[in-house]
Amino acid sequence: MKIKIESNGVSLKLATQDENKNVEFKTIVKAYELVTGDELEITENEPSKSVITPESTTNTRTAGDDLENDRTPGWHEPVKVKLMCPYCGKNEVTKTLYGNRFMKCPDCGGKVLLQSATSRWGVPDNNGFYYKATEVFIDRYQAQVNDDLLQEMKEHMESGNVGKDDEHED
Ligand SMILES: [Zn+2]
Repeated sequence: MKIKIESNGVSLKLATQDENKNVEFKTIVKAYELVTGDELEITENEPSKSVITPESTTNTRTAGDDLENDRTPGWHEPVKVKLMCPYCGKNEVTKTLYGNRFMKCPDCGGKVLLQSATSRWGVPDNNGFYYKATEVFIDRYQAQVNDDLLQEMKEHMESGNVGKDDEHED
């Protein structure tokens, strides 16, 4: 049996003289500790779980705070939206109903994602726009899949830089 352990550019090879024999679990653990500098807590009963990396967990925040605001329009109240259709290039000022997640382009009928025109939902920008519609709308299922993917990628990166930067320019 041969084993190779790698961490941070250091690698260590273990081999038994008799190829049919296994490297003892304890030996693997020691080797792992040697390479990584980490100490592992070992429970002999469940060896499979112990060897692999200590996971760095990061708490992530989800967007969607600050939904309430005293200037927030009522549900389905018409609000100004700046449309730049990602499908056909239609560019116009129009209205949509507050609370909607997407609008349909009046020209091509494409579903366009409604995004807050400012950094806070329900707060208009200087020109009175509550929304901007510039990106293709992806339905909820697809968006969820994307979010999960993103989440997974974030969890694999150990940076603490997880805060969501959601600033918009006008
Ligand atoms: Zn269009």
